[in-house]
Amino acid sequence: MSGALLTDVSPPAAEQPTEAEWAAAVSAITRLPADGRVLLICHVNPDGDALGSMLGFGLGLRQLGVRHLQATFPGRPEVPEPLQAMPGLDLLVPATAADPDPDLVICFDVAGVSRLGDLADRLDRAGAALVLDHHASNTRFGGIHLVDPDAAATSVVVEKLLVRLGVPLDAEIAECLYIALATDTGSFRFDMTTPAVHEMAARLLATGISPGEISRRIFDTRPFGAVRLYGDVLGRTQLEPSAAGGVGLVWTYATLADLARHGQRPYTLEPLIDSVRCTAEADVSCVLKQVTEAEWAVSMRSKGATDVSAVAVALGGGGHRLAAGFTGRGSAPEIVDAIRAELARAGRPGAAGAGMPSADLQDRE
Ligand code: 5GP
Ligand code: MN
Repeated sequence: MSGALLTDVSPPAAEQPTEAEWAAAVSAITRLPADGRVLLICHVNPDGDALGSMLGFGLGLRQLGVRHLQATFPGRPEVPEPLQAMPGLDLLVPATAADPDPDLVICFDVAGVSRLGDLADRLDRAGAALVLDHHASNTRFGGIHLVDPDAAATSVVVEKLLVRLGVPLDAEIAECLYIALATDTGSFRFDMTTPAVHEMAARLLATGISPGEISRRIFDTRPFGAVRLYGDVLGRTQLEPSAAGGVGLVWTYATLADLARHGQRPYTLEPLIDSVRCTAEADVSCVLKQVTEAEWAVSMRSKGATDVSAVAVALGGGGHRLAAGFTGRGSAPEIVDAIRAELARAGRPGAAGAGMPSADLQDRE
């Protein structure tokens, strides 16, 4: 492995947003000039929380009368098929069409600048930069931070800011925030599914949205080619019970050739980690998804005994204690070697990744 691509390694944020930070965020929005231009950005390869938080907030800004409003994300302007019916998609523009110097830029679910790709320059060019996020590994880029590492999803932070702005939830905003919340809590299964999360879900459902229909569309519908692709990729899964300091590693990889053979787009692979991490004999699970010839997007999960975010940060990425990722360069075996080595280090007493099982955050993004 010739070194990882991304380098978000600043100290993690530990605190909840302060009253001063909430006030600064509210005033950044309410003090916009009448013709103020706002650019919303979520992370590359957006998932339900990234898009849902961004579009839900965008719809709220629209209610407040913000007229010059764009939403975007870096890279290919492709919305995963399951998210293509999300309300507010009309706000989306390709990154290449994004306002070069908006009055206000707002980032959603973005843990570090590298996740902004070519849009990172907007942080300097915009009049102000507001960051809404829930990653403990957030690097505190931008000017105003609403980063709550205890929030189950970025949409939790979004809802709180909408309340402070006096924007009532309508069904469209609620659907966006519900998709975000359901995505990051694994459909309300993960440890971060607190009473407050269910209370938020209740507020969202009270707008009349249909959880069954939304879940079927977002989580339970995929093309037949994807089912066959999963078969191939799961069929080559490897179990290494003695890896990760003895708690076990299970991993697999998906190549561009796999995608091409089954006629599938890269986002089809995102839920695959959930099948791999079921493995009872391993605490740590990994899926390597080939992005280019020598570049792989790596998803890592732990059941509780390993801090995979420490491993991901060591390899140039970031994330949460039990759900993290990085972009690796080299061949799949080289990247798995690097992961094994970091896991062995993390497993040593006193090392950053060592730890007892905990009820810490477990989410996908
Ligand atoms: P996923 O495996 O679902 O793509 O991501 C799990 C978690 O790891 C998310 O919280 C995400 O922010 C983080 N993550 C995944 N890939 C990267 C990466 O390349 N860089 C950084 N900094 N974080 C990542
Ligand atoms: Mn998230």
